[in-house]
Amino acid sequence: MKENIVSLLPTELEQELTSLGEPRYRAGQVFRSLGRGVRDFDAMKDLPLSLREKLRERYEIYAPKVLNKQISKLDGTIKYLWELRDGNAVETVLMQYRHGNTVCISSQVGCRQGCAFCASTIGGLVRGLEPAEMLDEVLFTQLDSGLPISNIVLMGIGEPLDNFDNVMRFLELVNHTQGMNIGMRHITLSTCGLIERFDELAERDLQITLSVSLHAPDDETRSRIMPANHGRGVDALMDACRRYYERTGRRISFEYAMINGVNDSAEHARLLAKRARSVGAHVNLIPLNHVEERPFQPTTQGHMKAFIRILEDAGVNVTVRRSLGGDVDASCGQLRRKRERALHDA
Ligand code: SAH
Repeated sequence: MKENIVSLLPTELEQELTSLGEPRYRAGQVFRSLGRGVRDFDAMKDLPLSLREKLRERYEIYAPKVLNKQISKLDGTIKYLWELRDGNAVETVLMQYRHGNTVCISSQVGCRQGCAFCASTIGGLVRGLEPAEMLDEVLFTQLDSGLPISNIVLMGIGEPLDNFDNVMRFLELVNHTQGMNIGMRHITLSTCGLIERFDELAERDLQITLSVSLHAPDDETRSRIMPANHGRGVDALMDACRRYYERTGRRISFEYAMINGVNDSAEHARLLAKRARSVGAHVNLIPLNHVEERPFQPTTQGHMKAFIRILEDAGVNVTVRRSLGGDVDASCGQLRRKRERALHDA
């Protein structure tokens, strides 16, 4: 299969074009067109016809198609379901916060991590997204909505560290000054804790925020809801977090989805506080989004307050994620699941 030209960095484009006998400045022209969302070589009017022809022979180029778009009446959150070149679909969510417009993007089609409460993993992993496909989630969400995007969270479908090289390349592309120029400090990567990748990530010395989906502070509970805990364990996860923090100086945040009767006891709270303090992590509590295929229910609000009090009394920095887009299948993976079910039933 031909390579998607959008996945190439400017230096690589330069090499490609000079090897085709073109002057170097052509690379900049191509990269800037791609950065504006041009997805048709013929629309690159600043290139000679012969070059457009050569590029068409060598490279894939295409725009993702909007399969479904839902706009929340409650808070303006927009949820996109994109169709990719090969017919697969992924979701992107645009949230309008006071500190800027944030997109939540998918990093894989499906997921193999098997978290018991998550909709994205139900059909397993299909494939990782290409760097271009992740970039296009951000770029085409901005172009379609007309809302300038300043922040990115890799918290959609998929496990970013299970698609490591493509995600690293995507970060470079989206951060590039001649591209979307989104600062690394405005990007958060969320992982279920694939600790064997943490050191490699730390070595990249990016200024991104690493967010760890902890969801339980002890092995018994965590292994029950997150298969990724098997063979790794919470102690090893904490060691990896500590090393990451020491090497990068970037504070880690723990995500903790509150699941009724599963991970929300006072004992869980006390151990969570201890874990968070031991690595200087910030705790972000998430009211569980109920997923149709899953048996779990969110913790009640009153109970959540008691849980928060224990953490705060222990000196832990806690925030509760505001739930946006409640009327548009807010939790990622749900829209894609709906389509899969519809295709299956048809
Ligand atoms: N694979 C990565 C990123 C994708 S999930 C990870 O595990 O971090 C983004 C966040 O949403 C994770 O913290 C995940 O555990 C959480 N999540 C998944 N299903 C959820 C649900 N039904 N309700 C609340 N949070 C959920």
